[in-house]
Amino acid sequence: MSNFNQESVLSVHHWTDTLFSFKTTRSPTFRFRNGEFTMIGLKVGEKPLLRAYSVASANYEDTLEFFSIKVPDGPLTSRLQHLKEGDEIIVSRKATGTLVIDNLEDGRNLYLIGTGTGLAPFLSVIKDPETYDRFEKVVLLHGCRRVKELAYGEMITEKLPNDELIGELVREQLIYYPTVTRDPFRNRGRITDLITTGKLFDDIGLPALDAAHDRVMICGSPALVADTRTLLNGRGFVEGNHGEPAQFVVEKAFAER
Ligand SMILES: Cc1cc2nc3c(=O)[nH]c(=O)nc-3n(C[C@H](O)[C@H](O)[C@H](O)COP(=O)(O)OP(=O)(O)OC[C@H]3O[C@@H](n4cnc5c(N)ncnc54)[C@H](O)[C@@H]3O)c2cc1C
Repeated sequence: MSNFNQESVLSVHHWTDTLFSFKTTRSPTFRFRNGEFTMIGLKVGEKPLLRAYSVASANYEDTLEFFSIKVPDGPLTSRLQHLKEGDEIIVSRKATGTLVIDNLEDGRNLYLIGTGTGLAPFLSVIKDPETYDRFEKVVLLHGCRRVKELAYGEMITEKLPNDELIGELVREQLIYYPTVTRDPFRNRGRITDLITTGKLFDDIGLPALDAAHDRVMICGSPALVADTRTLLNGRGFVEGNHGEPAQFVVEKAFAER
């Protein structure tokens, strides 16, 4: 188990019957870049049962936070959803991932496109002062089916703008755009449709996506990732990776089995 730390659960919040978040202690030896994921899990018998999770807290915070789905028969989340304060979880000592701003070329506006728990890495990215240093506006798009699934909305609109460290940057540069497909709400529709029709840009008062100026990060279902990649490629955006920064980067929020 030397590649893993044991962390204690500090608090658990259930958003819906399919979504929850939890905070844990953080070993001072665990380092990560905002936007990265790590392996977390539970001991089942003597064996660790691990899955990839984006770190939803920022790398300067003392605690770790994760935003999780509850898959009814999922090997890990059918157990993880019963976590309570004081329980132990296993967290890898290493983090990795493509959704880091170093993988993007300089640009004007940064679009963070997340669906479902694909919001998680961006919760970390929007707390990073460097994000606001690199980009003029940071547009956080969160797509879900139902309004109740728009987790963290209040944290983004109420708490972050008053944060001691980044409140001013958030107030001036962050645009939060939640959208749902199956409930009445002020913003409705799939993110790719909102981009294609231009409705998103009318709503937020920014020019339409342009590869010369804009940079994009995507995290969602394999279908969302595929559709958005096609959309961006069609507009001349080039995909970036480690060591090869470009105009957009993607990560699947979960693997299909
Ligand atoms: C790079 C990466 C980062 C990830 N980050 C997160 C994260 O921050 N939060 C999180 O909840 N999960 C995340 N996942 C998914 C996670 O690794 C597990 O799949 C998930 O926790 C379910 O585990 P399980 O063992 O219960 O079921 P699994 O056997 O792992 O999954 C069963 C099925 O559930 C569905 N599923 C799994 N995860 C999700 C999800 N997040 N949203 C919708 N459907 C899903 C898929 O259809 C999958 O085939 C990430 C996956 C990858 C590859």
